[in-house]
Amino acid sequence: MKLLKYLLPCCAALLFTPESHAEWFYEKQAVMGTDVTVQLWHEDAASADQLIDRVMAEFRRLDGELSPYKEDSELSHVNRTAGRETVKLSAELASLIDKSLWYSEETGGAFDISYATLGRLYDFRQHKEADAAETAALIKALNYHHLKFDKAAQTLYFDNPKTQIDLGGIAKGYAVDRAIAILRQAGVRNASVSAGGDARMLGDKRGQPWLVGIRHPRDKSKNAAVIPLQDTAISTSGDYERFFIDDHHTRIHHIFNPATGRPAGTEVQGESAQSDKLISVSIIGPQGFDTDPLSTSVFVLGREKGLALIDRLPGFEAIVIDSGRHLYFSRGLEQPN
Ligand code: ADP
Ligand code: MG
Repeated sequence: MKLLKYLLPCCAALLFTPESHAEWFYEKQAVMGTDVTVQLWHEDAASADQLIDRVMAEFRRLDGELSPYKEDSELSHVNRTAGRETVKLSAELASLIDKSLWYSEETGGAFDISYATLGRLYDFRQHKEADAAETAALIKALNYHHLKFDKAAQTLYFDNPKTQIDLGGIAKGYAVDRAIAILRQAGVRNASVSAGGDARMLGDKRGQPWLVGIRHPRDKSKNAAVIPLQDTAISTSGDYERFFIDDHHTRIHHIFNPATGRPAGTEVQGESAQSDKLISVSIIGPQGFDTDPLSTSVFVLGREKGLALIDRLPGFEAIVIDSGRHLYFSRGLEQPN
């Protein structure tokens, strides 16, 4: 009897250790014009719910600051004002602009947040695109060199009054990083956060890697590849997320070639036409703040220049699919012969 008395609390302790209650928690919400998902391992349901709320609130906060569709966002204020006078930026917006301009330089202008100068005339739901006259009238204003950014003072001025900017090519990657930082600081060790094509994993999936699917760009029900990943970010850019087919049978999608002011790869012939056009680009690297602009950049650059860029940047890998539906990898992912 004495022994049983001793054993019972011990068993109870085993049964009720917090670890035995730990489980996966999952939530999906529509924010930033896309589906945001959070999956995390936690021993306490109330804390997990609270953390998920904090993460979703952070996505909504960033959407409120960075959305070009919200009139009271900081981005909209900049677009209304910076063509007339120098605007003081928040530290956060300044860091996003700084990173964007770094990638503009690094990609020879393939990544350019001033794509919005023309991009804003497109509406993929309404099947609306800029016509040749509008494109010709605005193409000069689409150039990151018009962004006079003072990093130390955190100010921005557009030296062309028609220039406009949009952070759609970098904001979601930044947001998933912020989400992972919130979870990590709260002691979470296994989590995955995604916003549309941008995802970041914290740790592994408890003893096994996360399996991340790269969608088949022409068949929603299929994966083109499934990649095991842990503690990393992955961003995918494709011409199949937001697009319509126009009267000329051209696929009008949301990734612009700043050189032409048109969706990348829609050039039929001429100097800017690409023979190595891509339809899906996935970039793997430490943080979404880099993988997101890089996936957009490589899409614009095409296979050859795009993979060369990734091979030059330490810590990043790429999986790309060209218009012939062939899969190509950056050097670090290629099978040794
Ligand atoms: P998403 O995750 O939204 O599908 P991507 O990472 O593929 O986005 O980036 C596409 C978005 O980037 C577009 O919706 C647009 O907001 C923005 N964008 C398009 N072309 C460019 C470009 N050349 N440079 C920078 N941003 C761009
Ligand atoms: Mg991107």
